Amino acid sequence: MSYDTNNIFAKILRGEIPCHKVYENEHTLAFMDVMPQADGHMLVIPKSPARNLLDADPTALGALLATVQRVAQAARQAFGAEGVLIQQFNEPAAGQTVFHLHFHVLPRSAGVGLRPHTGKMADNAVLAGHAAKVRAALGA
Ligand code: 5GP
Repeated sequence: MSYDTNNIFAKILRGEIPCHKVYENEHTLAFMDVMPQADGHMLVIPKSPARNLLDADPTALGALLATVQRVAQAARQAFGAEGVLIQQFNEPAAGQTVFHLHFHVLPRSAGVGLRPHTGKMADNAVLAGHAAKVRAALGA
């Protein structure tokens, strides 16, 4: 399977599609998932092309995981979460729907279930507010 440069996250990286950005550095970008399964659901992606973890350059993974850790810590603080779920899917059989490597970061608390994937986009103002909360926790 090859990398398709027209995938949605590649378009976000090129600035062709907007996103609610939470954090960015030379190698990675973190932004709000547009159909969040929990308040504060974020995605962390590498700027270098990779379809998923199976074809990723191993040398890109350190920076990616460092950003996952950083925004997970900030999300826990911002949402007063008891824990943080990290998810990562590889290929359709494993649930992957967007073919640019990404990690899901989901704040979790006991008794608060994940919302199902409805295919409905969340309210823009709500996502903007959640992104601002995480940025504040990051000190950005
Ligand atoms: P996957 O199943 O591939 O791991 O998840 C892809 C994720 O990308 C889903 O949670 C979905 O809600 C999210 N997503 C799909 N399209 C967009 C988009 O245009 N913008 C953002 N921010 N997230 C998206």
